[in-house]
Amino acid sequence: MNLAADLDHFGAVHRAHGPFVARVGDVTPNGYRLKVSCECGVTLERWVTQEDEVDDVLRERLRVQRT
Ligand SMILES: [Zn+2]
Repeated sequence: MNLAADLDHFGAVHRAHGPFVARVGDVTPNGYRLKVSCECGVTLERWVTQEDEVDDVLRERLRVQRT
């Protein structure tokens, strides 16, 4: 699965548990580290590159904001 599909899946499974909290690490030329935490304690952690184009997924599906 690619990252967008992973996020989609995470959102579908955990949406009912509560709001998600996303943390974004320092942005580097190679991308950034993304951590999305669910209220139930599960965390999805991925390295995101420019090509992943997951911003729309994060905004629209998971409704999280970059910090
Ligand atoms: Zn959950």
